[in-house]
Amino acid sequence: MLEYKTCVRCVMDTTDPDIRFNEQGVCNYCEEAESLLSSFKFTPGKEQENLKTLAERIKSDSKGKYDSIVGLSGGVDSSYVAYLAREMKLNPLCVHFDNGWNSEIAVSNIKKIVNKCGFDLETYVIDWPEFRDLQRSFFKAGVVDIEMLTDHAIMATMFQLRKKYKIKYILSGSNYVTEHGMPTSWLWRKQDLPNIKDIQKKFGTKKIKNFPTMNSIKFQLSKMLGLGGTYIEILNNINYSKAMAMEVLKKEFEWEYYGGKHYESVFTKFYQAYFLPEKFNYDKRKVHLSAQIRNGEITKEEALKDLLEAPYEPTQLRIDKQYVLKKLGFSDEEFEDIMNAPPKNHLDYASDEWIFNIWRKLRRKKKDA
Ligand SMILES: [Zn+2]
Repeated sequence: MLEYKTCVRCVMDTTDPDIRFNEQGVCNYCEEAESLLSSFKFTPGKEQENLKTLAERIKSDSKGKYDSIVGLSGGVDSSYVAYLAREMKLNPLCVHFDNGWNSEIAVSNIKKIVNKCGFDLETYVIDWPEFRDLQRSFFKAGVVDIEMLTDHAIMATMFQLRKKYKIKYILSGSNYVTEHGMPTSWLWRKQDLPNIKDIQKKFGTKKIKNFPTMNSIKFQLSKMLGLGGTYIEILNNINYSKAMAMEVLKKEFEWEYYGGKHYESVFTKFYQAYFLPEKFNYDKRKVHLSAQIRNGEITKEEALKDLLEAPYEPTQLRIDKQYVLKKLGFSDEEFEDIMNAPPKNHLDYASDEWIFNIWRKLRRKKKDA
């Protein structure tokens, strides 16, 4: 069996091909977090002040019916964003993106939250036959980031709805404290539309017609010029932790936990806890647990104990695997071949990465000058 070198502080190891260690054996993620994490710690007074300032800014800039938009998945982060929006007396439009895989618990959480907060909810339902064909294509292509399809579509949908309702602010659940330290090789840039198109052209049976898209340049430009709205990472303005958020959500909304980060969708669970570890040897639990260690929520020993357990409970895996394969229309043999085929890089397909390489070079030059 291959032996992996593990960081002396966290549980990240050389299953991440780009990890680096200093002389003391501390990984680059721990080193980076050491300087950054402190900027996300606030006194209770400062927290209140941050939220108050944000609320004033959002309210004073609002022109239409809604002052902001929240993508609500029913998971911890987005649910807590909705909770904060209520506390800040905002009136967001909540958007639920239904890609065909959301668990009943997630949907019930969403309903509980919008009902109690009195927020409007718009549900975007994906063209399932087309989306299913795209997901099949990504599996056949052998690339790592199959979730980029959902992330891309959410991004494009939020952009369209924001425009339709003339909303400036997007309240995002992204946050440094619980999400930092994700190896870049474990995912792909979500905006890479040429990549999606090329993979679909090579492996799909349907043309992209209704799947919401947005090209990178438009996305980048609108972000730079503020045309795509302003993203507010609200959770980066408070002392955020999952444990604290879950406690509040349970109390306020009778919100239910579905177990595991991002497991609010059956597909995401299957993808993270089976597909990634089995095909790529990437176990995202290591990233999430390491973030918790650095944040002082758990000890390394506790994390190691967690990792001793299989990422998927075997009986549940059998049930979920059967469900996912049937829904995607793969036979057992077909899927076995997909799992056994050598992994491919997203750059084995068309991509607009070259534009971003030029962009990064220019930025570096500007920095060095
Ligand atoms: Zn580390």
